[in-house]
Amino acid sequence: MSKAKRISGFREDLCNLCGICLHKCPVLKLPLEEAKIEMKNLIDGKESKYALYRCTTCFSCNLYCPQEANPYQLILERWNDLYKKRGAPSIYRFVVPTMDSNIWQMLNVFLSNQERRWIFKWMHNIPKPDETPLLIGNYTHLFPFIIGGSKLLDTFKPIDRIDQWEGGAYLYQGGYLDVVQKISERTKEDFDSWGVKNVAASLDAIEYIFNQVHPNEMGVIHSQNFINFNQWLLNKIESNEIDIKHELGLSVTVHDNCYSKASKGAYWETPREILKLCGCQIAEMKHNRKDSLCCGFGSGASWTKNISIIFDIISDGMKKFKEAEETGAETLVTYCSGCLYLLWATKELLRSKIKIFHIIEIVRLAMGEKLNFPQDNANRAWDIIAIITYSLFLSFLNKNFYINRITYDKDLSTFKPKKYRILRLIRYIMDFPLIKTIFSYSFQLLRVLLKSKYK
Ligand code: SF4
Ligand code: SF4
Repeated sequence: MSKAKRISGFREDLCNLCGICLHKCPVLKLPLEEAKIEMKNLIDGKESKYALYRCTTCFSCNLYCPQEANPYQLILERWNDLYKKRGAPSIYRFVVPTMDSNIWQMLNVFLSNQERRWIFKWMHNIPKPDETPLLIGNYTHLFPFIIGGSKLLDTFKPIDRIDQWEGGAYLYQGGYLDVVQKISERTKEDFDSWGVKNVAASLDAIEYIFNQVHPNEMGVIHSQNFINFNQWLLNKIESNEIDIKHELGLSVTVHDNCYSKASKGAYWETPREILKLCGCQIAEMKHNRKDSLCCGFGSGASWTKNISIIFDIISDGMKKFKEAEETGAETLVTYCSGCLYLLWATKELLRSKIKIFHIIEIVRLAMGEKLNFPQDNANRAWDIIAIITYSLFLSFLNKNFYINRITYDKDLSTFKPKKYRILRLIRYIMDFPLIKTIFSYSFQLLRVLLKSKYK
């Protein structure tokens, strides 16, 4: 039973039903009158025609609302209501670390020995009170080589606790608000037990979740100071404590993730400053900053049929690629590791030529550190495609479910890998170029067929 009281982030008292939020929404683009009706229905808890089934959780509507009423949080509340009625879709098990055959458990089968050593260390580190833990997080865990072995870690104690769920950030976006509250209480217990004063989060999203969502919406107030990793990087580069040895001379376009819009744009310029200091020229996409399109992940939140979720995610990811390619930039840079894994998987499925870097990789290259790019990234993308394919098959055998447990058991039974013979076979055949091509075309065909059937 939760001790804290959850508070809705939507300010119904400020909303005048003007409809601007859903009218300006880059996904829904509803006619103004329709937008007003949809907002009224959402507030009254009546049938939603659009928002709950098409929203990609991009956060933009909060920036469009002239009243600062937080319409995005209204959508989250209604998804939370839906979750209570219908549960989570079967495929969602693969991002639930406390359920069997989740992505982190399955990925253990494909990690290199070096990655295993990093992760083992990060999972078992316990910070001393005078140290600053750096939360590696569930997403960076999937691409540990973007930061593993880097001098950037020297200042911190890297901590990798998958069952801290990125502070609940990705569940929050899906509207699993009651579960996020439990996670917020659990993370508070962890931080307080470590006795640390500062906590660094490798994602803006996590800093925002701890600083804003936990206290203001979950009723859980942390006593720690949260350090934004991108801001830390920028400060260190400007003060020459991080030595930029090479100007990279890359033409890049920047993917602004959904959470980058959460603090009224506070997160947009820092990565751009970092890129410029690393010698990159920026070409902006048509939709950037407050209008930025989702990498695709968010479209899973507005699911209707389990089978179509993955295809909806890739479909929305395709729009992002189209815009990125239209800029003529050779590289797409993301400053969110959650977007990184989906963008890489989408790139491989679309056979797109644009390079994708995480901003940490850009800084490391400019520092003169060596990366095995793009081989490590492309291999990992196919590991993830294999896991998602396998999870899709598994999801046909399961039903909708509820997330009842948030912490690992003491044996880490849902983290330790099993044999996963079928998964290994799927991954093995995906190493053949012809199979990759066939798989990629079949996937795109299925995407079109399912989109016309279910959307
Ligand atoms: S979060 Fe984004 S996609 Fe969803 S309603 Fe708001 S603006 Fe539209
Ligand atoms: S949430 Fe804001 S933009 Fe949307 S209808 Fe209410 S006042 Fe208008």
